Amino acid sequence: METDHKIKIVDAPEGYSGHGFFATRMDKAIGLARLYSLWPLPFATSCCGIEFMATMAPHYDLARFGMERMSFSPRQSDLLMVMGTIAKKMGPVLQQVYTQMAEPRWVIAVGACASSGGIFDTYSVLQGIDRIIPVDVYVPGCPPRPEQIINGILKIQDLVHNESLRRRYSDEYKNLLATYGIE
Ligand code: SF4
Repeated sequence: METDHKIKIVDAPEGYSGHGFFATRMDKAIGLARLYSLWPLPFATSCCGIEFMATMAPHYDLARFGMERMSFSPRQSDLLMVMGTIAKKMGPVLQQVYTQMAEPRWVIAVGACASSGGIFDTYSVLQGIDRIIPVDVYVPGCPPRPEQIINGILKIQDLVHNESLRRRYSDEYKNLLATYGIE
């Protein structure tokens, strides 16, 4: 029986190919590499964090997306996943973690609490982490199912794949950070 030994791991970026060569744009190649090598930092404070544990476990197996290497060191992470209720007292800590992460960095607000304060419309709870740091993707739910968390990660991968290499140097991006008091 004939077997096909060509195993396709990922789709090649768009480009030109000919006999013995393939040419593409630098940002496409870098986008492809980044897309499958995100290093998440799970900032889990309550019940949504438990849902994330299920997302990591073998049944859902987040490692399928090339990112089972969780990092609790901000300087070695590029995807901040905020999961749970964030008290206002914890806000400065979260912002410090974000600022310690190297660029380019992305943020997912997982669940209603991280996205909007959830059911805790109280004096002590931050009404959404986007009051202190910019957010790229919001995952709704209380708690969100692991499928929703995975869907949020796929959305981040879309952003990572297609982000211009120059976006982080743009005035628009600097102005965005400035609105949060981040240089
Ligand atoms: S959104 Fe719901 S499940 Fe998630 S941390 Fe808040 S209360 Fe818990």
